[in-house]
Amino acid sequence: MAATSTELTGTCLCGAISVAVKGPLTMKMCHCMDCRKFTGTNAAYILPVARTDVRVTGSPKQFWTVSDNGKKYCRGFCAECGSSVIDESPHYEAVYWVHMGIFPAHTIPPPIEESFWVNAESWEILHPGVRVLERQEGQDDV
Ligand SMILES: [Zn+2]
Ligand SMILES: [Zn+2]
Repeated sequence: MAATSTELTGTCLCGAISVAVKGPLTMKMCHCMDCRKFTGTNAAYILPVARTDVRVTGSPKQFWTVSDNGKKYCRGFCAECGSSVIDESPHYEAVYWVHMGIFPAHTIPPPIEESFWVNAESWEILHPGVRVLERQEGQDDV
């Protein structure tokens, strides 16, 4: 199956930050506690995109953490409206993780991976065909 090239632009809730990405796009879910807290939901829904294919307009505020595996991780969000926008890590210099909620409806492919499934609530249901990672992050590949 030939990969389809896609261009998408998304914005935070107030519009101060926009992010344009070039595909083909994939989407991954992460249920780690950091992702839950940062997004305020059961999981982060993120698009790993090569940094060369991402264009950010505006200035996301950055919040640095160290994850359970000792890796530095930077959360990027809008300081005005609080939307989760774009994350990065110095351990994965080729990729940004863009939060899918900023993009228009009906533009995002189904998830291919769910990491930290160990944290999933009893009522959560795995999406068909996903790769399941009980604990580790699987975010190093685009
Ligand atoms: Zn905003
Ligand atoms: Zn996570």
